[in-house]
Amino acid sequence: MAEKITAYRFDRLDQTLTQLNKENCVIIAGGTDVMVLHKSRRGVPPKIPKPIVFIDHLSELKRIYQNHKDLHIGACCTYSDLLEDPFIPIPLKKAIKTIAAPAIRNRGTLGGNICNASPAGDTLPLLYVYNAKLLLRSVHGDRVVAINDFIQGPRRVQRHYNEMLVEIILPSVLEEGSHIVFEKIGNRNADAIAKVSFAGYIRINGVRIEDVRFAFGAVGPTIVRSIDIEKKLYGLTIPLTEADIAQIVAAFDKIINPIDDQRSTAIYRKTVALNLLRYFLCMKQYQSN
Ligand SMILES: Cc1cc2nc3c(=O)[nH]c(=O)nc-3n(C[C@H](O)[C@H](O)[C@H](O)COP(=O)(O)OP(=O)(O)OC[C@H]3O[C@@H](n4cnc5c(N)ncnc54)[C@H](O)[C@@H]3O)c2cc1C
Repeated sequence: MAEKITAYRFDRLDQTLTQLNKENCVIIAGGTDVMVLHKSRRGVPPKIPKPIVFIDHLSELKRIYQNHKDLHIGACCTYSDLLEDPFIPIPLKKAIKTIAAPAIRNRGTLGGNICNASPAGDTLPLLYVYNAKLLLRSVHGDRVVAINDFIQGPRRVQRHYNEMLVEIILPSVLEEGSHIVFEKIGNRNADAIAKVSFAGYIRINGVRIEDVRFAFGAVGPTIVRSIDIEKKLYGLTIPLTEADIAQIVAAFDKIINPIDDQRSTAIYRKTVALNLLRYFLCMKQYQSN
């Protein structure tokens, strides 16, 4: 006989947080990662080791709003919600369109992609270059943490058992003047997990680089970003020289250390990651802005 699972589905966020404070539970938003993690033989219910708490219906977690130049996105917005919202930046929509197929996009949430912390999570490279901040809430109050501090490794995040990710904050994302790209390499254009992904952000004043950020997905245990390398480009003028580009590519060559797995080989991943970086650094689109 199937084992019983205790499941909670409260009407409000505060009731959910109170329960989380009493009991260590598995949070289920869309369930598209949780159910795969705990899948069992056909016809056998999944074995989830703790009580579960559903959060996908909570309206407090589904708001998208602007606060000055920052964009706040509720953790339980599904990919389909995000695709329909006019505030969501175009590059993020482009990344979302590469995720799975419509059925999963109707269930999967942005908060789930972050908390699952897969290095191949398709929204993560962009969230890193947007300098995303995460609003976590518990019965004891709120705290805000940078995404790169929150994500520690595959399925490892800096979340206390009684906390929930409530909002993703994209600082100054509504500011004009930056050029942002997202590229994903998979077996096909959608419904494929990334072999490599890349996000690049650049802001130029005249011909001078004011700010630049790069993030690589699926080439290490977490998204790879290096502020030290990015800083080497601050103040340089575009178009960049061959020597500048070679220096940046060489610096990333040292810190990108992918692995071989069922989706790709380490050498392919590294070669493509560095090619995407080179392509971004030579791009004509932002150079003519
Ligand atoms: C067929 C298939 C194809 C897929 N394709 C892709 C793809 O192309 N690209 C991609 O990036 N992903 C893909 N995924 C993975 C998955 O759909 C995404 O990672 C999705 O964003 C997970 O969101 P969810 O709401 O379903 O998360 P859930 O499964 O509900 O949760 C995932 C993890 O996050 C935790 N969690 C969720 N929300 C919160 C919260 N608010 N606060 C605290 N913890 C929370 C859960 O406890 C769990 O540990 C695919 C999955 C499937 C099944």
